[in-house]
Amino acid sequence: MKHCIRLTLLLGLAVAFGGSFLSSPAAVQQTPPSPSDNPFFKPYQTPFNVPPFHLIRNEHFLPAIEEGIKREEAEVEAIVNNPGPPTFENTIAALDRTGIFLQEVTSVFFSLQSAHTNKELQALARKTAPMLSAHRDNIALNEKLFRRVMAVYDRRESLKLDREQLFLLENAYRDFVRSGALLDEKQKLRLRELNEELSLLTVKFGDNVLAETNAFRLIIEDQADWAGLPPSVVAMAAESARRAGLEGKWLFTIHVPSIIPFLQYSEKRDLREKLFRAYIMKGDNGDENDNKENVRKIIALRQERAKLLGYDTHAHFVLEKNMARNPDTVNAFLAKLWDPTLAKAKSEAAALQSMIDREGGGFKLAPWDWWYYTEKLRRQKYALDDSALRPYFKLDNARHGIFTLCGKLYGLKFVEQPGLPLYHPEVQVFEVQEGDGSHLGLLYMDFHPRESKRGGAWSGSFRRSYYEQGKRIPPLATIVCNFTRPTADAPSLLSADEVTTFFHEFGHALATLFSQSRYRSRSVARDSVELPSQIMEHWAFEPELLAEYARHYESGELIPEELVEKMEKSKLFNQGFITGEYLVASILDMAWHTLLSTSDVDVNGFEKKVMNDIGLIPEIVPRYRSTYFNHIFSGGYAAGYYAYIWSEVLDSDAYEAFKEKGIFDRATALSFRKNVLEPFGTEDIEVQYRRFRGADPKIEPLLRNRGLEIKN
Ligand SMILES: [Zn+2]
Repeated sequence: MKHCIRLTLLLGLAVAFGGSFLSSPAAVQQTPPSPSDNPFFKPYQTPFNVPPFHLIRNEHFLPAIEEGIKREEAEVEAIVNNPGPPTFENTIAALDRTGIFLQEVTSVFFSLQSAHTNKELQALARKTAPMLSAHRDNIALNEKLFRRVMAVYDRRESLKLDREQLFLLENAYRDFVRSGALLDEKQKLRLRELNEELSLLTVKFGDNVLAETNAFRLIIEDQADWAGLPPSVVAMAAESARRAGLEGKWLFTIHVPSIIPFLQYSEKRDLREKLFRAYIMKGDNGDENDNKENVRKIIALRQERAKLLGYDTHAHFVLEKNMARNPDTVNAFLAKLWDPTLAKAKSEAAALQSMIDREGGGFKLAPWDWWYYTEKLRRQKYALDDSALRPYFKLDNARHGIFTLCGKLYGLKFVEQPGLPLYHPEVQVFEVQEGDGSHLGLLYMDFHPRESKRGGAWSGSFRRSYYEQGKRIPPLATIVCNFTRPTADAPSLLSADEVTTFFHEFGHALATLFSQSRYRSRSVARDSVELPSQIMEHWAFEPELLAEYARHYESGELIPEELVEKMEKSKLFNQGFITGEYLVASILDMAWHTLLSTSDVDVNGFEKKVMNDIGLIPEIVPRYRSTYFNHIFSGGYAAGYYAYIWSEVLDSDAYEAFKEKGIFDRATALSFRKNVLEPFGTEDIEVQYRRFRGADPKIEPLLRNRGLEIKN
């Protein structure tokens, strides 16, 4: 796994208890524009009916969200007041068709909030989060509506529903129950309060992380402080300084494309430490952006809500809907992987320490030394240097590689669409066409870090596909990343990690683009959500695909075979660390969400205890510490961060099918598309997977890929 942060928000995926986006009741004072000025209130009149970003202004969101809520309320009322007896069509299917306008507006709003925010949008999010939370509760706790749903549900055996309809019905019923439909009035009231409070806290948490990430700067004025940095990294720092108005200096930040190369190459141990500490102290500095109190409250409120709904813990509540089903299964799975991983990480630490000793360093390996000595050891052992790879991974070439792959597998074509309205000039839009030229959807890609953008990489949508009177409304998928910027002398040259992330997010986007179902609602088990994304990672460095795209950005020369061999040989290098820092974060997530007594928990003390209990070595820090763990405190991954490696069992096994038949095998790709990607979220994934693979997934391919040996 990479150092990159994959915050796959999958906006709009049914997340029971939304609450992924929140706000505080800070007033946003604006004169509402008349609806006639508001682009959300009229047909867009744009090509492909894309959102008219050139017309959308901050002040348009609130009236549009309010209107969306009103319309959905009316749609729900119409279902409730239907004089006919409840049927699948007039209740379940009708419910599935509500809220289209609201979703259209909020998809744009949430996407911008993550990818291109500003103070006004942040304030708006704080205002609208409780509104949206209350709106969701109004529907989920509407008794008359629930009675109709239950009436259909109780007769489900006799309704002759097909499997997609049955899945929709069962999930609708279950979501009502999970949202509190069976509670008494007093409990319902408390539930509403909890949801509202959580909606605010999680917005606040994410805003704090962004503020902390932007707050730190390491400004270098003395060239002696460059020691060890490759010219490309120096150029990047000069470019960052120039953009920040610090012409002639060099600027490093704790945005991933800046900090990682510094940690890999800088000989200045004290500066590495400074940058590293700034990174891991985000949200833990005792100032106005401190997140410890937010963590404490979020955990306590989630726990209270779980209890209210009849679950032991928040993890029990969440996992009921996942493949893993319960915390014991997840914990046992993580524990099984942890022991061999820890052993591997310890031997890696020892190797790094002996390198330090050989050089007469005279100090003990610290977390801020790990990247530096790892790079050194990689050069020594494999004669491979991360920065030697970058020239072959120009961003445009990597994009070409992915397009080529999608052409080979699925026959897709990508046609750039310049001139469409954009929310930022750096965004690129492509029309995705089937092999016969028919329109599949649009893909927006936004590649580089900005102060207005959250860290990490994710995929979402401005619109998901659905059917309206038999006609498919095509999706607008998005990919947002924080990749290395171009400099004055060179285009954007990606690290191997960034290339992998690109393939990963592209896989999510493909799932959005291919999605086919009669109904708008999908219910994806959270721990299978990384299957479409992670399977794409397997192709990234296959020699046959590298031959299609990995060309030197200056000479145009194909990546030398010898370099490809070195990559192949060093595949398992540093896997103890990579798997380790990820597993630790997953274990921390589970520990938080299975905590029974949440009163007065000391956030740092708790974190420390969890680390000690599993015997983590001090040279490794969890991939995310609690105070900036956006996935679980501001995204949809609470009690779900383990999902990456759980899904990896599936994607590693699924990729074996391609290896058996040839990695570009069209028939296997078609089967994967038809059985898994198109109907993703319309049936249990276990069933879909078996239809594709003819068997349940095996864990062995994952273990092999990560070089782990498990003793039974
Ligand atoms: Zn992902």
